[in-house]
Amino acid sequence: MQDAREYLKLAEAIAKAPIIPPCMNTDPEIWFPVMEKDQSQARTAKKLCAVCPVRAECLTYAIKMNETDGIWGGLTLKERRQLGQGLNRESLKRPQNQSRRPRSLQGHPEQPQSQT
Ligand code: SF4
Repeated sequence: MQDAREYLKLAEAIAKAPIIPPCMNTDPEIWFPVMEKDQSQARTAKKLCAVCPVRAECLTYAIKMNETDGIWGGLTLKERRQLGQGLNRESLKRPQNQSRRPRSLQGHPEQPQSQT
């Protein structure tokens, strides 16, 4: 059921996108480099993903579904795993009730409001 929900979220984002995602009108093999020699294909896929209107949704789908093949959201499997590990480390460090905003963006309640 989780699979279907995640797929529907991605499909909905694609349907609402202002342009067709590049992987849907380009040779799909580019997104599945298998050998070291395919690195130029991987670079091409990443460049195309960089301008894709559903990149975030695509990457989220791949991470949640633990996709093990291909480039999704501009990242390889290794890069997705590194991102996932980084996110897990961050969520372990930060208490749930603590703001995610950087201190520099948080208001200082003792500071007077500027008069404009
Ligand atoms: S971000 Fe995802 S949907 Fe967009 S081009 Fe890349 S692989 Fe395709």
